[in-house]
Amino acid sequence: MNPSQRVIQNIQPRSERITVVCLKKGNAKPLHGGHPWVFADAIARVDGPKPAPGDDVRVMDERGTFLGRGFYSPGSAIAVRLLTREDESITHALIEQRIDEALALRCDVLGLGPADAGKKSNGATTAFRLINSEGDGLPGLIVDVYGDYLAIQSGTSGIERRIEAILDVLEDRLKPKGILDRSDARTRAIEKLELPKTGPLRGSEPKGIEFARVNGHEHAFDLRSGHGQKTGLYLDQRQNRQRFADFAKGRDVLDVFCYAGGFSIHAAQGGAKSVTLVDSSEEALGLAKENLDRNKIADADLYAAEWPEAFKMLRDAGRKFELIVIDPPKFARSRDTVLHALSGYRDLNAQALRMLAPGGVLFTCSCSGNISETDFERAVAQGLRSANRRGSILERRGAADDHPTPPGFDQGRYLKCLVVQVND
Ligand code: SAH
Repeated sequence: MNPSQRVIQNIQPRSERITVVCLKKGNAKPLHGGHPWVFADAIARVDGPKPAPGDDVRVMDERGTFLGRGFYSPGSAIAVRLLTREDESITHALIEQRIDEALALRCDVLGLGPADAGKKSNGATTAFRLINSEGDGLPGLIVDVYGDYLAIQSGTSGIERRIEAILDVLEDRLKPKGILDRSDARTRAIEKLELPKTGPLRGSEPKGIEFARVNGHEHAFDLRSGHGQKTGLYLDQRQNRQRFADFAKGRDVLDVFCYAGGFSIHAAQGGAKSVTLVDSSEEALGLAKENLDRNKIADADLYAAEWPEAFKMLRDAGRKFELIVIDPPKFARSRDTVLHALSGYRDLNAQALRMLAPGGVLFTCSCSGNISETDFERAVAQGLRSANRRGSILERRGAADDHPTPPGFDQGRYLKCLVVQVND
């Protein structure tokens, strides 16, 4: 027996025979630094019973130092996702505690009363992220609250196996009218999980478009099966939209990749002179229209077009804007496409900057987790150069505070939002 095996046996309670995942020498550094993932190629060996998908396993470094316990995902590039740094079993009680902690955090950051939990609140925000996967110690689970409804994404076998217990706790705490499965089919395919279920997991689904409040504005969402993008809305941009409104007064505003028009509604209520919205999806523009009407915003132009075509139309019409947001879908879906994505960001930014009036402000976003903050910033700098503009960064922003992340977890900081002021 080698020395590391002796250490493992010492700390393993006799009653519990769980699998131990031992890392290769030198591979534990990110985990010591807070990272919650164990990549399959960092594993030296797996000791003990052969783990099934979603099993609770113990992780050790090459010297037998305990690193944490998490869900095992055979066949996935991310073999283990840690839930805890304590040597404790991943029980339903632990999961329940995590959900309660997540709820308490949201009540705190959104200023909700404990009894409101968002849904019956008269407060400013009734659509928010309740559980943000690793950031709430529940890797693979996303839960978003939309007024009386919950939208969930389950993306790991560990969560999938415990989903009924999770739904029980959510029903008990939030008493929703319905809990809907909005899981991402692509994420589930990587984990070899079945396609997401259609129809509600609990209760009923909404009969049509409903409204929630976000930062005090009315916001349309469509959670019916087959409708809407993501879990319903892009909740991660909540605070960036609010900041956007601070720059809007008296300005002509362009909202590219507008989806339901969240940035535009904020800008209009922040005193924008006009708002122009662009999206390639007719359905998205339908939601945006509902939002504009509901918030009584009349001075708005909507363009249903791919962005290069919309930019051409606006340029041909001689339009200039003093405030622009570009919030495109993920350009880099995998690590192989990073270079291509970076040149895409450069071109998109250059084209947007050409339509920005001197002294104007650009909010430029990227939600590609595979692209670092530094690389994105460089692509924006290249965009400024191609457009022959001089600019400076006023703010470097990320996802809203109901999207917490563990320290040391780079992948959690997928959303980047630079606020760039163009000088001339
Ligand atoms: N800014 C939005 C979220 C944007 S999500 C908000 O605040 O909620 C990205 C949007 O880009 C989606 O609505 C999608 O329909 C749109 N889109 C995707 N490809 C596009 C393209 N080539 N041209 C224009 N819009 C596109």
